[in-house]
Amino acid sequence: MIPYGRQNISESDIQAVVEVLQSDFLTQGPMVPAFENALAQYCGARHAVAVNSATSALHLACLALGVKPGDRVWTSPITFVASANCALYCGAGVDFVDIDPLTYNLSVECLAEKLRQAERRGCLPKVVIPVHFAGLSCDMEAIHRLSRQYGFKIIEDASHAIGGRYRGEPIGNCRYADIAIFSFHPVKIITTGEGGMALTNDAGLAKKMALLRSHGITREPADMTQAADGPWYYQQIELGFNYRITDIQAALGLSQLNRLDAFVDRRHQLAEIYRQQLAGLPLNWQLQPDDCRSSLHLFVIRLQTSQIGKPHLNVFRQLRDAGIGVNLHYIPVHLQPYYQNLGFKPGDYPQAEQYYAEAITLPLYPDLTESQVLQISGALQENLN
Ligand SMILES: *Cc1c(COP(=O)(O)O)cnc(C)c1O
Repeated sequence: MIPYGRQNISESDIQAVVEVLQSDFLTQGPMVPAFENALAQYCGARHAVAVNSATSALHLACLALGVKPGDRVWTSPITFVASANCALYCGAGVDFVDIDPLTYNLSVECLAEKLRQAERRGCLPKVVIPVHFAGLSCDMEAIHRLSRQYGFKIIEDASHAIGGRYRGEPIGNCRYADIAIFSFHPVKIITTGEGGMALTNDAGLAKKMALLRSHGITREPADMTQAADGPWYYQQIELGFNYRITDIQAALGLSQLNRLDAFVDRRHQLAEIYRQQLAGLPLNWQLQPDDCRSSLHLFVIRLQTSQIGKPHLNVFRQLRDAGIGVNLHYIPVHLQPYYQNLGFKPGDYPQAEQYYAEAITLPLYPDLTESQVLQISGALQENLN
């Protein structure tokens, strides 16, 4: 089975990990800050806080922005559940903004309309979490303008989007957001096995996230309530977690970062072959606005189901039967049983649900070969004829 995504691990990645294994520190050593600094520099953000997953980063970002019971957090229904769960961890409520049918990102028009209504009813969100779906940036300038007007904070869930650009600048620079989050799960653009990063230009937010990442414990005399009892002394000043990433993982991430641009270039090459091969078939793919360069985490097609003589499910199954590990990103979050139990129901976000009825993720990763792309395109052609 050709998978939909796969990590690329080089000899130098392996060597970087081995060096940490032979060093004094497997965790809380020098590789974590080295990875943080390198990524902050790559993105042009002032601060980076590395953690053990993007899910942890989203949780810490919400906490740092003061999300608490009674608050509301809005995100896209076409995302991984973690983009919404982070608000629930903080005791806040979640709501969704329907997607744009062409970019599959949270629709700025729907956001503007929902904000107008929420203002009237006195239930504006504290935080909005735009998700850069498949690596394509949301229209951050427009969302940022709305944040000024309505007073909400912004966390970019850029789990798909490291290496992508918006208006000529790296995604993750936080020009239009308070915090941006990356994931380093093996299916994402670069990997640390498990891992995540929160970037921000706000020193206070960075400090808060770093504190909560490690139990809420500080060793900074200036942050303590009293003078140290002795050289062993530390204080717990908040209720934090163990969300730390290891030096083993950070070394892998740092080594992968060297190939980030090459990975994204390769994804563009392969996607271009898909677009050439699939042109003319009854399907659509994600619109790529001129001011964005996607990292192309995913290559999603949408079937024009009215033009195709069989159900979406059959097309999907036939591809799997042909040894092609297609996938579906994502089941709309509001349709998950846990969210339906919170009161969401089918029909709430029609564009997201329409998308779900048509979408198929084709394999795309740097080690996929041109001939595999031709094979997959051929199978799809046959399937749709
Ligand atoms: C993968 C992903 C996450 C969670 O990332 P982890 O590092 O696995 O915790 C969150 N949001 C989106 C959009 C993702 O794709």
